Amino acid sequence: MRDFFEEQLKALRVRSLDRHLREICSAQGAEIETGGRRLVNFSSNNYLSLANDPRLREAALAAIGEFGVGGGASRLISGTQSPHLRLEGALAKWKGTEAALCFSSGYAAALGTIPALVTKGDVILLDKLCHASLIDGAKLSGAILRVFPHNDLGKLEGHLQWSHGEHAGKRILIVTESVFSMDGDRAPLRELIELKKRFGGLLLLDEAHAVGVIGPNGRGLAAAENLNKHVDVQMGTLSKALGTSGGYICSSRNLIDWLINRARSFIYSTAPPPAIVAAALAAVDFLASPEGEERRLLLWKRIRLMQEFLPRSELNKTSSDAYSAIFPWIVGDEQAALDLASALQSEGFLVPAIRYPTVAKGSARLRITVTAAHQDDQIRALCEAIKRLSAKL
Ligand SMILES: *Cc1c(COP(=O)(O)O)cnc(C)c1O
Repeated sequence: MRDFFEEQLKALRVRSLDRHLREICSAQGAEIETGGRRLVNFSSNNYLSLANDPRLREAALAAIGEFGVGGGASRLISGTQSPHLRLEGALAKWKGTEAALCFSSGYAAALGTIPALVTKGDVILLDKLCHASLIDGAKLSGAILRVFPHNDLGKLEGHLQWSHGEHAGKRILIVTESVFSMDGDRAPLRELIELKKRFGGLLLLDEAHAVGVIGPNGRGLAAAENLNKHVDVQMGTLSKALGTSGGYICSSRNLIDWLINRARSFIYSTAPPPAIVAAALAAVDFLASPEGEERRLLLWKRIRLMQEFLPRSELNKTSSDAYSAIFPWIVGDEQAALDLASALQSEGFLVPAIRYPTVAKGSARLRITVTAAHQDDQIRALCEAIKRLSAKL
């Protein structure tokens, strides 16, 4: 009998779409060890370099001393330990909402929350470049799913009109991100909120790549634009700038209580480990402190430096101002992106090639992320290498 999986894998390889794991033999940071070498790491979402921060490590160790390592049960059974409630209190305060709820990942937050908000017969309007977790949550809900072209307010308005005509009286949920994970650009939040108010409906904003990066004390795009009160559901993750693991939803007390009763990925999954929760709380406390704000401003110095040194060609075509810590170098061809990634790796840089289905076919790219921990000369050296390589293309 022929091996089905072997054939499928071969088909992936032929199209340069096969993926492989890479062993990292060190903690996360501006430099990591892999394959017996140290590489400068421009691949992670550890924007503030908190993943191996002594404050977070100490918080985790102290929590292990007090609470051990396991959550024991689902949060609704006996898994809600003091760190969980402390973290949720701190998140709500930081985000300026009535309440917050944590999940074991951002993916689980999306998968549990969207189906709790809308169901069969309701309508979800989702930006084309939304993260897989949002798409999967939308599909799982059973609601009618309409995708609008990226940041296209005219098309969104058309969809809203259509929803009102064809699905009068049904709930409408608009889903988008504040910073798009593979493109690094932002949603036009103010205009989105205007539309939402005109037509009615709920807005879920995924702030995964904005928290810790954008807004006062890294509170995200909604806070930066003073629109917190108008975003019904603020989603985020503790696993990127906050350096740990887990997802969260910040919203009204009623909506959070509803999630506690209806979000299946919350109800039917063991509580996140107390040590990780305690580390995440230390990260939120850090961000809210003057030192945290200093770290965030340092990140923006690095972002501006990257903006300044990157070749002006494909990269940086957007505008004179960077939107986030994510810089996509869109190459197009999948194999070309892989070749560039390995050329950069032989020069000592880890920059991932992002391919279909993470991005559209034929829009493969190198996704460069900068962090507060990068040194100026590391950024300069990367940009020089990119210049050399792109001249050869
Ligand atoms: C990473 C990411 C998630 C998932 O968060 P995890 O905590 O890694 O599961 C959700 N949404 C967006 C936009 C992301 O980039």
